[in-house]
Amino acid sequence: MTPPIDILALSPLPDTLAPSLAGRYATHIGLDDAPRDRVRALVGGGAMQVDAALLARLPALEIVAIHGVGHDGVDQAALAARGIRLAITAGTLTEDVADLAIGLWLAVERRIVANDRAVRGGGWDVPLARRATGRRIGIFGLGAIGRAIAARAAPFAADLIYTARSPKDVPWRFVADLTTLAAESDVLFLAAAAGRETHHAVDAAVLAALGRQGVLVNVARGALVDQDALIAALAEGRIAGAGLDVFADEPTVPAALHRDDVVLSPHQGSATVAARSAMAAMVVANLDAHFAGDRPPGLID
Ligand code: NAP
Repeated sequence: MTPPIDILALSPLPDTLAPSLAGRYATHIGLDDAPRDRVRALVGGGAMQVDAALLARLPALEIVAIHGVGHDGVDQAALAARGIRLAITAGTLTEDVADLAIGLWLAVERRIVANDRAVRGGGWDVPLARRATGRRIGIFGLGAIGRAIAARAAPFAADLIYTARSPKDVPWRFVADLTTLAAESDVLFLAAAAGRETHHAVDAAVLAALGRQGVLVNVARGALVDQDALIAALAEGRIAGAGLDVFADEPTVPAALHRDDVVLSPHQGSATVAARSAMAAMVVANLDAHFAGDRPPGLID
């Protein structure tokens, strides 16, 4: 009988994924206890860090399978140098992340969470909120999630604009840079991939351009935002509020963000039963295709 293929996860896998892998592969958790010379696949979430030093310890590695779509922790050049494949769970979570982005936005504008806290504390008279309909919407990054946010936000919007590395064939207006996007938006959604080019893209200048009535919604990655600059802008009333699913140093969330004009979410973009089930199925599909000699459906070229 052929021995099972050895795969490695650097940290424990979610309960939605682990059982599906256990029946098909010899799954090892943690580098130290794994048969490193035999490991052919590395599996982990979007936060997994994969660099050349790690790859050097895994001489038989053939594929990195991400349980998610963000792969900013993976050194793609180091993978390419060894001919190692990279696969993600594209298309499994897009709608869920976009739904959460809209929910965070409306919660900030209409003070839904702050008002809930007030009512639970016996309160009733609360400050007026801002009208969501008729706001100018800006989206940074018009990939799968950015487009899904745009489709949901468009019916609310007086104007819908976006920026990305290149213009897209969409009905929304492209602007060339993030500062212009912020200046012409009341609500700025972040949906761009993290990386060297987008690190701290939202800095004090972009927040100043967004302005005192502006709301920031981040469902992409904490690294896109200079979090200290965001905290200062909120504290000084230089922007109106923020809806945040992602943070600079998760799971640490600074107490300075515990504010009524900020809605906080513990990186829950893909955290629905449906998305997590689809993500697990696609991780398995990516691995099965690879080891069957086929092209994994979520392969990144
Ligand atoms: P995607 O389809 O690959 O889209 C990424 C977008 O980022 C593209 O529009 C790309 O522009 C843009 N981009 C990349 N570098 C840029 C730059 N330097 N300047 C401007 N735009 C840039 O990815 P997706 O599926 O939409 O996911 C987007 C991100 O969401 C992921 O990378 C991940 O970090 C995050 N995410 C978060 C959660 C959560 O739980 N909150 C869940 C899933 C994903 P071009 O098209 O012009 O190249």
